[in-house]
Amino acid sequence: MTLNPVLRVDTQMIEAVRAHRSLSKRAAREHASRTLALMGIASPEERLRAYPHQLSGGMRQRVAIAIALLHSPDLIIADEPTTALDVTIQAQILSEVQKLVREQGTSLIWITHDLSVVAGLADDVAVMYAGRIVEQGSVDDVLDRPQHPYTQGLINSLPSRNKRGQRLRQIPGMAPDLLSMPAGCAFAERCSRASEVCDQDPEPREVLPGQTVRCFHPGAADAY
Ligand code: SF4
Repeated sequence: MTLNPVLRVDTQMIEAVRAHRSLSKRAAREHASRTLALMGIASPEERLRAYPHQLSGGMRQRVAIAIALLHSPDLIIADEPTTALDVTIQAQILSEVQKLVREQGTSLIWITHDLSVVAGLADDVAVMYAGRIVEQGSVDDVLDRPQHPYTQGLINSLPSRNKRGQRLRQIPGMAPDLLSMPAGCAFAERCSRASEVCDQDPEPREVLPGQTVRCFHPGAADAY
């Protein structure tokens, strides 16, 4: 979600409230103010009177998330909402969002490239490669015992998994062009376990209880 740069925060939030509930402007404003406070925003009344450019990046993201939470939805899909923020602000926002969605009973799909965010925030994870889910399961299972070579490559490339002073391990090659996908497994060109059977398209299958993998040769062995 992005904020409209030419409208004050109160205008945008009141409009969002009244689009779904028949509340007076005053009641809608009070609801907006309460939701900002729930998102850990200090001086919500002052923030309501601000234009987006008068807020910091972290504050803008908090306001955008507060707008998504105004109606206590069943599900929120958040696409890299904290990627541009520094780590401290990101950690604060993650903890506030986690607390709020738990309290409200909202499901949250958080799309991210950051495995530390996944480890700290999620219950379940779905790892995507070339537009498809290649591994899925509980965060603990997938991060502790990844079965797909791509998930293993991602985890092995984390700086914390590499020795100080040495080059970071990386997954060789590049992701395929989504407009001209290769036949068979999309990861085959980069995979050290690829064999003839990988010329076919693997279907997802449960290889461990609760852990589904799209691979002909899943396994715990370190591929990189
Ligand atoms: S299906 Fe084959 S090429 Fe694809 S990830 Fe598994 S082993 Fe590698």
